[in-house]
Amino acid sequence: MQFAVLTLFPEMFSALLGAGVVKRAIENRYILVEPINIRGFAKDRHHTVDDRPYGGGCGMVMKPEPVAEGIRYARKKHPEAYTVLLTPQGRLLNQKVAQELAGCKGLILVCGRYEGMDERVSEHLVDDEISIGDYVLTGGELAAMVVIDAVARLIPGTLGCEHSAQEDSFSTGLLEYPQYTRPRSFEGVNVPEVLLSGDHGAIRQWRRQASLGRTILRRPDLLMGQPLTTGDIEYMKKLQQDIKTIIGKHSTGS
Ligand code: SAM
Repeated sequence: MQFAVLTLFPEMFSALLGAGVVKRAIENRYILVEPINIRGFAKDRHHTVDDRPYGGGCGMVMKPEPVAEGIRYARKKHPEAYTVLLTPQGRLLNQKVAQELAGCKGLILVCGRYEGMDERVSEHLVDDEISIGDYVLTGGELAAMVVIDAVARLIPGTLGCEHSAQEDSFSTGLLEYPQYTRPRSFEGVNVPEVLLSGDHGAIRQWRRQASLGRTILRRPDLLMGQPLTTGDIEYMKKLQQDIKTIIGKHSTGS
């Protein structure tokens, strides 16, 4: 998967590209990330990329011409790529959207700065607009890095173990079960016995139930649109019964 990133701060990307899974994915040619400086497409002597907003008001707006030139340049190199503008006004990035983007034949990510982009860029020059959350950053670079990171780990081969992305939180529709490693006992807290049992069926069941329990407590909204098995429902009924019993005991005691 090829990522072209249009930005005023290409140097920011060295942090992402120089470490961990993303670095390895680049070295192994699973992904290629090319930061492209928008300023290089400004035609005037001062390489101007911003201007005052029509109608007045604070701050500056990114001029459309250099961004348009940059997008056309990137599209020429990657004709099949999908062009995404990073903006707090876009659709929210989640695992499903990341999976969708991972299926594209390349991504051109456009990063805004200042008060944002001239509206004609979002209206006519991009395929999609994506936000990484309901807060406002100073620029689209961190958002683009979040997209690259989330998408890159879904490209087959980038993670050592093919299953790890499939079992991650949200990929199954649930939060992931708790993970443990050595030592067996840490500051008086032991790893759950079942994980040491070697019984793969029991481990699978424990993990599924732990995922369910965790999702009920932390993100019950995720369970609403989630297909559940009969085993899941049975387990949830048991939880419900346990909770009822505990409440009953406390009500009679008080
Ligand atoms: N004035 C804009 C508004 O209220 O919608 C915000 C502009 S913001 C200061 C500058 C740039 O940061 C945006 O053009 C966008 O590229 C990026 N940005 C800020 N917050 C973002 C978010 N939550 N998700 C994606 N990009 C974001």
